[in-house]
Amino acid sequence: MMTKEWVNLPPAGTSTARELSARIAFGTNRLNRHSERRESEAELALLRADPRARTFLIVGDTPLLKTGDRPDRARFTLAEATAFGPPVETAFLGTLDDIPLFAFLLPAQLADSLTGHDSSAGQGDTELANLRTLAAEGLLPADELGPLGEARALMDWHRRHGFCANCGTPTVAFTGGFRRDCVACGAHHFPRVDPVVIMLVADGDRCLLGRQPQFAAGMYSALAGFVEQGETIEDAVRREIMEEAGIPVGAVRYMASQPWPFPSSLMIGCAAQALGDAIVIDRLELEDARWFSRDEARQMLAGHHPEGLTAPRPMAIAHHLLKAFTETEGLFI
Ligand SMILES: [Zn+2]
Repeated sequence: MMTKEWVNLPPAGTSTARELSARIAFGTNRLNRHSERRESEAELALLRADPRARTFLIVGDTPLLKTGDRPDRARFTLAEATAFGPPVETAFLGTLDDIPLFAFLLPAQLADSLTGHDSSAGQGDTELANLRTLAAEGLLPADELGPLGEARALMDWHRRHGFCANCGTPTVAFTGGFRRDCVACGAHHFPRVDPVVIMLVADGDRCLLGRQPQFAAGMYSALAGFVEQGETIEDAVRREIMEEAGIPVGAVRYMASQPWPFPSSLMIGCAAQALGDAIVIDRLELEDARWFSRDEARQMLAGHHPEGLTAPRPMAIAHHLLKAFTETEGLFI
């Protein structure tokens, strides 16, 4: 299926329109989070009572959508949502164009009864949707995909953090779903974001790309890895490239970031300057790593590489880092 790249463009005239991050899947999120209103149960009750209020539904770790091609098909009224039974958790995400948006976590077992034509709960037709597919194929507007990804990441955190990491006692959600407290030891637990560096290493007119064994056949991508404690972003980039490809790296420049709700990463896209070109592949991490010329990178993005090699799709930040490299004349970094 053709990827509708246009759906990920930010609205014209917004202050983020020129940011690369806002042009990548999950990178557009215009929610006004109202973090002060999360603190007040009275405010939350008012927001829930607003007839315009809508919620995203996450069944286990899978979004539930209404069938059809409507742009707002990820949104349910709160009455529609509660018809599926009591939610496991709820969160107030914020308002979008003054409409209060929530996230409801529904039990994973509910998926068994949702066959795609659920009429038992009086909801009309619904379908469980693969969030990666929604992003890859542009099946939701960017304005919906960002908050839906956030809803999935937040509900996934609730699902996995029912017990205190400090003392093992069950925890309870507070502040509109943005904190869990332990009633025994008083510890506060906050939703996690896990930083990952992903970097395009350039050596003049060439860039370094690698492939993991589980990638689609022929696909090469920018190298990536989790930031470790005690590391700057720059240090994490240099360490990962040295570990995986044996290439010493000098300067590192931030380019763009992407929330990646699988389950809760933040991809931090960088350009990096190679200080050598002798590749030593870490075979535990990579199946291959190679230098590619700008012309080859262009061919891979266009799907015309003579060896049939390809680049990641536009939903991935790696696609945009590689595209920026091919569009740069002279030094990338
Ligand atoms: Zn505790």
